[in-house]
Amino acid sequence: MNSKDNKLPDNKNKQAAFSFIYSPVTDLPGIGDKSKTGFNRLKIYTIKDVIFSFPYRYEVLIPATLNEKIVLTGTYEYSGIVRTRKGKSIYKAVFKAHNGYFSCLWVNFNANYPSSLLQGGSLYYMYGTVTRYENIPAIFHPEIINEEDLGKVRSIYTIPAGFSITIYRKSVKAALDKGLNNINETLPEYILDKYDFPNIKDAVKTLHFPETKENVASIMNRKHPAYARFIYEELFYLQLVMQLKRKSYTKGIGIKFNIDKNYLEEINQIMPFKLTKGQKKVLLDIFNDMVKNKQMNRLIQGDVGSGKTIIAFISAAVAVYNGYQAVILAPTEVLAEQHYDNAEKFFSRLNINICLLTSSVTRKNKEIIKEKLLKGEIDIIIGTHALIEYDVEFKKLGFIIADEQHRFGVHQRKILIDKGYNPDILLMTATPIPRTLAMTLYGDLDVSVIDELPPGRIPCITKAYRASQINKAFDFVEEILNDKKKAYFIYPLIDESDKLELKAATKSYEEVKKYFSGKKVGLLHGKMKPDEKRQLLHDFKYSDIDILVSTTVVEVGVDVPEATVILIENAERFGLSQLHQLRGRVGRNDMQSYCLLIASDKISEYGEKRIKAMLEYKDGFKLAEADLELRGQGDFFGTKQSGMPDLQFADIIKDIHLIQQVKTDVADILDEDTDLSMKKNNILYNRLKEMYKDSTSYFGIG
Ligand code: ADP
Ligand code: MG
Repeated sequence: MNSKDNKLPDNKNKQAAFSFIYSPVTDLPGIGDKSKTGFNRLKIYTIKDVIFSFPYRYEVLIPATLNEKIVLTGTYEYSGIVRTRKGKSIYKAVFKAHNGYFSCLWVNFNANYPSSLLQGGSLYYMYGTVTRYENIPAIFHPEIINEEDLGKVRSIYTIPAGFSITIYRKSVKAALDKGLNNINETLPEYILDKYDFPNIKDAVKTLHFPETKENVASIMNRKHPAYARFIYEELFYLQLVMQLKRKSYTKGIGIKFNIDKNYLEEINQIMPFKLTKGQKKVLLDIFNDMVKNKQMNRLIQGDVGSGKTIIAFISAAVAVYNGYQAVILAPTEVLAEQHYDNAEKFFSRLNINICLLTSSVTRKNKEIIKEKLLKGEIDIIIGTHALIEYDVEFKKLGFIIADEQHRFGVHQRKILIDKGYNPDILLMTATPIPRTLAMTLYGDLDVSVIDELPPGRIPCITKAYRASQINKAFDFVEEILNDKKKAYFIYPLIDESDKLELKAATKSYEEVKKYFSGKKVGLLHGKMKPDEKRQLLHDFKYSDIDILVSTTVVEVGVDVPEATVILIENAERFGLSQLHQLRGRVGRNDMQSYCLLIASDKISEYGEKRIKAMLEYKDGFKLAEADLELRGQGDFFGTKQSGMPDLQFADIIKDIHLIQQVKTDVADILDEDTDLSMKKNNILYNRLKEMYKDSTSYFGIG
């Protein structure tokens, strides 16, 4: 849900009250520039943003219940400064409770505080985490609670350091008092009725001020109608956009390719191997799309090593055979170059002209390439996604293949369509995901799965070591690394800063070199120039480098068949899908391959579980399921990487049944009202406009 929408409405005649919710947080009482900075750090800019920034939990102020924090009630007796053994001064106040004494302690205090707060003989309610100090219960830095607040619910918000929760709460209250009435409903009435959901105003208010313990409990277990409403809403708009996009793709007139049997026979002649059943099935799906006169939007999912590349090449060749140009996009330059190397062998035998365009191509050569593309002298161009954004023009672009589908977004499609191209689009992902997630993530695409590996693959043997056993792991590598075998040693990017990363990698490189004195060791890291990287990977693949020490630039997709061992340092720092990708770098030939996971001695329980999952599962889909279970949807692959929308309320696992329901609801709505032009769907139309601004035309409304 896009709750951080701070766009001002363009209609200036709207009432002042309406624009209040779009005015800056400094319009709230007591919010000056300093607090504004705090708000902005949380991406809260307008009063509407405040209204839609919900608490992440609540606390109930109940005397002496066993919460993580409790209220101690007692009469103030005396206080004074005590010195700790380390010579620090602490202000200590002692209270008499009905069953004994407790103390409150302040480590950093000044002359007036807290002594000025306390009056002898008065009753106090002190709130905080209870520990023991000098053998009686004690609270450090307690909060002094008013009697009338006992039993009340307080909302806990994420606030930046140095920002006071009290000011924050006051701001929320002020924002709601004045702004809530101007919040527009975002779900149509018939949906609210169908599920008995509260309207948006009541729902917002309940989440900020649940008031009763019962409400808090049902919000926290996600059952409260106010919370359920927002879960539904989030999934609803996600699904609505997917289905609209899908409809607009299928409406989109595409190229009707001819699949010529003789040409397929010609391709068959030059194939280095026989396709697996899984590959054939997927290729058939693609051909079925290509022959239709609508635009193809298909995603190929397949485990690492399942052979997606050849599928891409064959379908691109068919497009070229039909007189069109094709583009092959890779997520990184290294992979673009590798694709190019493989493609060259394949396409040259079919008399297809291919070309590589990356940022390392000189300007002069770029100009030449651009001209050739426009003239149609290049059939297939390979490069990174930047290629789409360059000012390249094609003579007749008809087919696009993109690796790592999530990086090929609405934006890039729009650029293409704006240039007047309507190519078939084939996306490939090397990150298998469970069906449940695919449904949500790729609802707008047709999906095919390559469900088997090429024959003769021997499953990789995975072993786990602790960092203190690194020599054992090295010995093992030493033993198996004879003549033609090669090894990757992977070191995670430990520090964000390039300098430190390089230092760490260089240090490991020196150690490895020393240990494996008879071997040739290479070092690959992110700071190297593309040329140097290329040379090194080339040497690793074709000549005498035995061990490649690398930071994580050896990304998904690098294909060096002789590599039979991969040793991963600090394996606990990687996500499961990344570990699986790395493991997929070996076992690309008929030799037994090994993956050695070196985990820190101080590994967490969660890290331990991930290592266990790696030992147990070889199948990417199974691992992905395990991953999803281990993490909860929280940070599956890391949100950025998966293109997963930020979900504030919904949970892909817990809400799986609801997702089905929402899908049906949305489909019913769009069946009746394809472009959301009916009056009862005004709310949906307006909300999409607000969320997607100029891009809505792209998925067929407005
Ligand atoms: P990925 O699906 O991970 O992209 P690749 O396309 O790189 O996998 O294929 C992995 C390896 O398997 C490559 O070396 C490729 O040549 C080989 N390969 C692909 N399909 C087959 C097949 N049907 N039979 C034998 N080897 C194959
Ligand atoms: Mg087509």
